[in-house]
Amino acid sequence: MEGWVSMPKVELHAHLNGSVRDSTLLELARVLGEKGVIVFSDVEHVILKNERSLTEVFRLFDLIHILTTDHKIITRITKEVIEDFASENVVYLELRTTPKKNDSIGMSKRSYLEAVLEGIKAVNTVNVAFRPHNADVSNVKRSSLINDTCNGSTRKKIYVRLLLSIDRRETTEAAMETVKLALEMRDLGVVGIDLSGNPIVGEWMTFFPALKFAREQGLYITLHCGEVPNPKEIRAMLDLLPQRIGHACCFEEEEWKRLKSLNIPVEICLTSNIRTNSVRSIEVHHFADLYNSKHPLVICTDDSGVFSTSVSKEYNLAASAFGRSDFIGACNVLEGGKFQLARNAIEYIFADDEVKRELKEIFNSAELDQ
Ligand code: 5GP
Repeated sequence: MEGWVSMPKVELHAHLNGSVRDSTLLELARVLGEKGVIVFSDVEHVILKNERSLTEVFRLFDLIHILTTDHKIITRITKEVIEDFASENVVYLELRTTPKKNDSIGMSKRSYLEAVLEGIKAVNTVNVAFRPHNADVSNVKRSSLINDTCNGSTRKKIYVRLLLSIDRRETTEAAMETVKLALEMRDLGVVGIDLSGNPIVGEWMTFFPALKFAREQGLYITLHCGEVPNPKEIRAMLDLLPQRIGHACCFEEEEWKRLKSLNIPVEICLTSNIRTNSVRSIEVHHFADLYNSKHPLVICTDDSGVFSTSVSKEYNLAASAFGRSDFIGACNVLEGGKFQLARNAIEYIFADDEVKRELKEIFNSAELDQ
């Protein structure tokens, strides 16, 4: 496991509110329990439970949102989540979150996002590069160092970029508001749009106008696609030509063919897919077929808090499940292939060539140190 932790990694599919530490959720629940807003003993076991169906996962998100939807708390969890990823050597993180509006506490989508940005700035265990190179000249100077040296000691660095999620419960207008916010916040590290939320809720045509507009405006697009069987929606999603998709669990032969012909990278979330029963067992997970057919893919956590996982654990799981020589779709994800698998993710990030070049340098020097 240590080998996977020390290896530099790229995380491209992580939901902010799904990546909160259990200890933080319990602390927040205790405070709301004392205020009489919730009954702590009712929620404690929900937070600590490990096995959950897809439906139960979305119920848990509703609970997490009750605990976290407050500007100060959003700032706190953003800071903690970035520090947690950095502590296991994630060097580039695309963090996604759904901007939330809650009039009762004076929260708008914009103020939610500002609280997230405060959280990024508050990180102090590691240096964070979050503004695109062309947005800030001083950022160019800072980012030319792989690890920044401060007062003689070297600090780790992590690139952070934001994706704004559209929740499938939202209206076309709300989705459009999120896209416009993303466009306004481009200089502050917002690079794209995600479509997520309960896959059995909402209609594709509700989100399509906002996603099409985002694409036309040059924002990157990634879609939760095929978490449940829905061939019509899967086809429509692929027709939009998103730059990446997440999951792809319930694809049929036709959809695989189309995906492969378009060469759209897939964000693979093994633990999440197994825990939510979106894929029956690790042995039949589509990772093996995609890996063996050299289709672009990237290993991700999805919700490291909710599924008690980490990027290192996901790589370890892939290697132990698919690297076995007796496994029918055996993949070369063990020693020789592991750096390559992690390094390939650089090609699929939503950032400029300069960032890609620096990430390659980080991987090269880490490999030499091995
Ligand atoms: P947030 O956007 O509030 O920061 O992160 C939690 C939200 O991400 C959930 O409410 C849900 O909308 C979305 N999400 C997290 N995990 C999944 C997943 O596995 N599938 C889908 N479709 N959405 C998810």
